[in-house]
Amino acid sequence: MSKAVENLRAVREKIAGAERAAGRPEGAVTLVAVSKTFDAEAIRPVIEAGQRIFGENRVQEAQGKWPALKKDFPDLELRLIGPLQSNKAADAVALFDVIETVDREKIARALAAEMKKQGRTPRLYVQVNTGLEEQKAGIDPRQAVAFVRHCIEEYGLAIEGLMCIPPADENPGPHFALLEKLAREAGVERYSMGMSGDYETAVAFGATSVRVGSAIFGAR
Ligand SMILES: *Cc1c(COP(=O)(O)O)cnc(C)c1O
Repeated sequence: MSKAVENLRAVREKIAGAERAAGRPEGAVTLVAVSKTFDAEAIRPVIEAGQRIFGENRVQEAQGKWPALKKDFPDLELRLIGPLQSNKAADAVALFDVIETVDREKIARALAAEMKKQGRTPRLYVQVNTGLEEQKAGIDPRQAVAFVRHCIEEYGLAIEGLMCIPPADENPGPHFALLEKLAREAGVERYSMGMSGDYETAVAFGATSVRVGSAIFGAR
């Protein structure tokens, strides 16, 4: 068994344990395996072990490895979890099943135009910069609820949930709680939060999906 497959099983068990501890139903949390920087050879055993949902943070990198894998495994779901530039919107709509990083007007407009043009409708999340970090993508939490409404009303985008990446040096709990509160106010029901270091905490705070990379594939 590859090390990544062993790790995958361990992560799945920890998620199940965190679901039980939080009194949540088994399977309430979707595991997104973050495969950025790892090539198709490293990813394939994890797919063969049953994992079907993967996250990538760069459009171009994903284009290099996923079309062939998707051909072999038609039920794969690919999620974009990294910042999106509007000149990559067409490629992103063509390749990804979920885009978690809608965070400004220009991207919302570009995605709406591409989805119409291609007749393809990836599910969408709005990324929220809960820590108001300058170097980080995501909309200001004070504007998040209005932005979600704007995406729905102005562009007809079916925003499914919110996503956040808490500051690396802070307790993530308050950020997860903020994301959940904003989602409730905005009337969306999915929260993408929690990474290798804090996914069990995120499950306790109501995450509906966690994005786990290094705890599965190893250090990058
Ligand atoms: C890389 C990445 C992850 C996974 O991080 P790990 O700490 O390796 O689990 C999760 N979310 C986003 C947005 C990422 O870019």
